[in-house]
Amino acid sequence: MSTPRTPPASSAVQLKPMLIDGAWVSVDRDAFASINPATGEENFRVSAATASEVDRAVEAAWRAVREPAWRDMLQHQRAGILRRIADAMDRESELFAQLQMIENGKVWAECKAQVASAAATFRYYAGVCETICAEVTPARGNYLSMTRYEPYGVVAAITPWNSPLTMEAQKVAPALAAGNAVILKPSEVTPSPALELGRLALEAGLPPGILNVVTGTGAVAGKGLVEHPGVRMVSFTGGTASGRAIAIAAAQKLMPVALELGGKSPHIVFADADMDAAIEAVVGGIFEGSGQSCVAGSRLYVQAAIAQEFQERLVARTARIKVDMPQAQGAQMGPIASFGHRQKIESMVQSARDEGAEVLIGGQRPEAEALAGGAFYQPTILSGLRRDALVVREEIFGPVLCALPFQDEEDLIEQANESVYGLASGIWTADYRRAWRIATRLEAGSVWINTYKQLSVSTPFGGYKQSGLGREKGIGGLRLYQQSKGIYFGM
Ligand code: NAD
Repeated sequence: MSTPRTPPASSAVQLKPMLIDGAWVSVDRDAFASINPATGEENFRVSAATASEVDRAVEAAWRAVREPAWRDMLQHQRAGILRRIADAMDRESELFAQLQMIENGKVWAECKAQVASAAATFRYYAGVCETICAEVTPARGNYLSMTRYEPYGVVAAITPWNSPLTMEAQKVAPALAAGNAVILKPSEVTPSPALELGRLALEAGLPPGILNVVTGTGAVAGKGLVEHPGVRMVSFTGGTASGRAIAIAAAQKLMPVALELGGKSPHIVFADADMDAAIEAVVGGIFEGSGQSCVAGSRLYVQAAIAQEFQERLVARTARIKVDMPQAQGAQMGPIASFGHRQKIESMVQSARDEGAEVLIGGQRPEAEALAGGAFYQPTILSGLRRDALVVREEIFGPVLCALPFQDEEDLIEQANESVYGLASGIWTADYRRAWRIATRLEAGSVWINTYKQLSVSTPFGGYKQSGLGREKGIGGLRLYQQSKGIYFGM
């Protein structure tokens, strides 16, 4: 197994430029810091885009997308570039993993796995790009009619910090495969992987201006892109409140948006389930990535007959999770991605205590001296919660599991579906008829049966209700970035 490089010392702090029109542009004014959440040290300073850089990026993208070099590039040639990006990402996987690890604190093994997954996404969309067809549609008279799919032109991709490169690949690969120019705005917590992706894309032969990476805040760079008249479509992954603000701004422009938002996913265990497997899945489903996963199984429903035993074994298993520095051998949970976010998690757990919850395990920072400088928080399980408690209703986006009882199937469905979110869900049972019955009634974009967090680039992914609009991944993930045109030839 590979080991991570040592994080750069503070003396190496440098100002990272952004990528506009194939050139690296430094903007020192309002530059922000990328912080290592495991130590509190500054990794880099990063250029912050103002309205002027947003304008430059949009202008460059429009110029590049209209150039014959990109506009007339054949599908298999575009696919070739995507494959070269994937290969380069694999070659430089240590660098990408290292950058993600020092910016969001995920453990080394998960960072490495996410780079491999991002490269696979580029390869998948290379395949789709090369093989996807236009359609001849049935004529109803003396003509030949067809549907052709064309890019929007310039699209913006705005991403969060929890799995930056995965989300960026999930947007940039299909948007480029569809023939667009892209302006990527990564989270201010994790700007570096996107900047390296921009570099690799140029090296792989993508024409300058087709992928621009604009770093900066959501309030200035993100909002500036969404409201810019030259941006024709926005693909966003992040919190529901930001997604709503983007949808409102998009409505003013009558612009399509794809939104992948928050979740509060129910993880359901019936008495006949394979208990060992279910415990492992429940633990992984909430505590992997320190709970900072949109599909985290954060509401646990266990059938009353096994609830006591399941809870005791779950707590014992949780106590064995190794919380450590993300580069440490065998670390299973690193820090929370930022100190501000840990504060939010702590205030949510406090609200649960105030509402009378029992903390079965965790509920505090780890005591180890070596972790005192980082934004660490222990895996936490809460019980004795009211159905309408804040922590049951709202996404915490941290290592906090709410254990809730259910009586029967009807009660379960009612509780599972009473959330405003509807991203994912899990069911553990040996009864496949019951699994099917429940899977069809859950209001969620993904349902896992006797597995959890199984994700594939070929299966459409997205949310019901306030968890989002539109579906990424799969063949339709490319069409998301195109509009159709009907063409008629008189015969
Ligand atoms: P966030 O909404 O704060 O920020 C996400 C991105 O949007 C950042 O790049 C930010 O700068 C930008 N942004 C913020 N406000 C904006 C605005 N008004 N206009 C334009 N851009 C704006 O989210 P976060 O804290 O970075 O990420 C955590 C959230 O993301 C969680 O709610 C999580 O569930 C969600 N998420 C969802 C998925 C999914 O696929 N459904 C995946 C990962 C994360």
